[in-house]
Amino acid sequence: MVSKNMYDKLAKLVVRKGVNVQKGQPVLINASVRDAAFVRQVAYYAYEAEAEYVSVDWRDTELTKLGYRYMSNETLSEIPQWQYDKTKYHQDKGACYISIASEKPGSMADVDGEKINIANMAYYSKMADLMSYTMNNIGQWCIFGIPSVEWAKVVFPDLPEEEAFEKLGDAIFAVTRVSEDNDPIKEWEDHDREMLEHAQKLNEYNFKELHFTSELGTDLTVGLVKDHIWVGGGCYTPKGVFFDPNMPTEECFCMPLKDSVNGIVYASKPLSYNGKVIEDFWFRFENGKVVDYDAKKEKEALQKLLEFDEGSSYLGEVALVPYDSPVSKSGILFFNTLYDENAACHLALGRPYPENLKGGIDMSKEELKQHGANDSMQHEDFMFGTRQMNIDGIKEDGTVVPVFRNGNFVF
Ligand code: ZN
Ligand code: ZN
Repeated sequence: MVSKNMYDKLAKLVVRKGVNVQKGQPVLINASVRDAAFVRQVAYYAYEAEAEYVSVDWRDTELTKLGYRYMSNETLSEIPQWQYDKTKYHQDKGACYISIASEKPGSMADVDGEKINIANMAYYSKMADLMSYTMNNIGQWCIFGIPSVEWAKVVFPDLPEEEAFEKLGDAIFAVTRVSEDNDPIKEWEDHDREMLEHAQKLNEYNFKELHFTSELGTDLTVGLVKDHIWVGGGCYTPKGVFFDPNMPTEECFCMPLKDSVNGIVYASKPLSYNGKVIEDFWFRFENGKVVDYDAKKEKEALQKLLEFDEGSSYLGEVALVPYDSPVSKSGILFFNTLYDENAACHLALGRPYPENLKGGIDMSKEELKQHGANDSMQHEDFMFGTRQMNIDGIKEDGTVVPVFRNGNFVF
């Protein structure tokens, strides 16, 4: 069972190791009203780390749903200037971002997908030039989760409410490496070091492409951009502040070459997108683009994603996650990408991370494109790793090097 003490440790972990709050830095928290008590703990540790101020953007799913039901499309597509100015104000002050997930998966299932799409499109267009702040790691950010009854009931539908909540809490704290008697900050330092070693090996091999096969039928070749950088564990801001953007994280990720992805890939887990849960889906790629696809459930949501913009039907990320990772070992499907993506190798449709390219952080959109990077306002991970996934790395000279056998690194 998760104790009060463990929540306290988690709050401190997120402030000190997650975003690594610097003296005099503003801290922005995005959280559900349900989690107010925990948010106060996080705020306390932020001030203890000498944050300049802590500002909270509160969410409430029911209010959001009411908005979608009653607001006109016109209102939904209008993002006020003050919202842009507010975000810009915090970013100009060098703020860091903490985001706390606890939402019920699929909570938007009964909302008109078109309305969600309109609101998202408007938001991303208005905020486009402010999104690189976190996407390019200019300021620190960290996303992590805490359990809620609503979420637990989706994960464990057959258990009584209280038991489900306890079980989800146990799982979340275990994969976030917080226990009653450990020092989570030290655990995370060790974990980051290990992930860094995998990334370094991959960087030394400097593969031209990766070939994936799995028992589901996946047979996919993913080209990598020249001068790519595999990243694993934490990240640095341009000011040299080390932080862990995802808790948990088990992935080493890289940048695919936009028009060099070919073959078929079968998803190994459902994808929660815009509050809809897409299940049993596959994509066929030709020269980087999804040319065919299907899904047994919520195919329309998948179509919305693929047709969102030009780049949302191309890849922006390829990530290797050992099948023996703690999230995978938990055997739990969290219905939340933050967790589920750390249970399995995944790909992302849409925008790449510029940090995966040498000098990428300082490149313009045009320069990134010239290096073969995709561009999109979306970044949507989906899982395709399995117990029997094999990966071969193919070097520039054609040499084939085994990278994964039966779901795990061979080195
Ligand atoms: Zn990833
Ligand atoms: Zn991703």
